[in-house]
Amino acid sequence: MILHNRAVFALGLRMCSTQVTKGALVDTAKFNSDMSEFRQVFSKAKHIAIITGAGVSAESGVPTFRGENEKWRKWLSQDLATPEAFSRTPSRVWEFYHYRRELVMSKKPSAVHQAIAECEARLRKQGRSVVVITQCIDDLHRQAGSKHVLKIHGSLLETRCVSCGHVAVNKRSPICPALKDKGAPDPDVTDAQIPVDKLPRCEESDCHGLLRPNVVFFGETLDSHILTKVEKEMEICDLCLVVGTSSIVYPAAMFGPRVASRGVPVAEFNLQTTPKTEYFKYHFQGPCGTTLPPALAPHESEVIY
Ligand SMILES: [Zn+2]
Repeated sequence: MILHNRAVFALGLRMCSTQVTKGALVDTAKFNSDMSEFRQVFSKAKHIAIITGAGVSAESGVPTFRGENEKWRKWLSQDLATPEAFSRTPSRVWEFYHYRRELVMSKKPSAVHQAIAECEARLRKQGRSVVVITQCIDDLHRQAGSKHVLKIHGSLLETRCVSCGHVAVNKRSPICPALKDKGAPDPDVTDAQIPVDKLPRCEESDCHGLLRPNVVFFGETLDSHILTKVEKEMEICDLCLVVGTSSIVYPAAMFGPRVASRGVPVAEFNLQTTPKTEYFKYHFQGPCGTTLPPALAPHESEVIY
């Protein structure tokens, strides 16, 4: 069984997205939404893995660019966040990411980010651990105070040189003079068509290579060092929460089911059911800003220091 799971895990390392299924797949009456039962499980858990997705960023007002109503100009992120789009139209892709960088730098952590960070800090004092495994590319978990964060899809606030591979934190606004006031999302805005030598460039000595956002584009493989850490967390966790993710982007979509397959309780917190809901022991429906904070609040049996 372990080998089988490992094989499935290995097959899914390339980031891809499956079709969004409209509407609820399963009768909601079948779900276990018993919060007091979940809280009993939570009170005994020693290693908690919390997988978060775009729904958590959305609580802070960060758009996902994954729905018809969330296009940037006339594109979804699947159209622009690809290696092909970046090599064909680096100026347009940089405008898109410049817009997203400026946007996330203006946002604050939500009640969800805060509840997760507070839970990690509190449980650490009790000798228990919380790890956040996030698909979000903003920095809001860290801003809220989460220490143990694995960012499987990279970071909007980091760059990577396409020539020398150097990765650097970059919170400059704008990231380069040519992108100042560019990136407006309205559908009638035309491309700025910035010459490639005016786009963000590497500052390592003698390199000057083109920089790209240090995010995982669709069709690219995930960082193997991060995935090794994720795999270890999946093996040791005794409770897993899947929060604000539609479970359609792989390989993250199979982390929860993989944990559930070893008999570990998994709880899903999402606006609606997902293609993976049936694998999970608990499903709490609604905005995660409403459902998650009470789930992670201090339990009466906890010793609070
Ligand atoms: Zn370089």
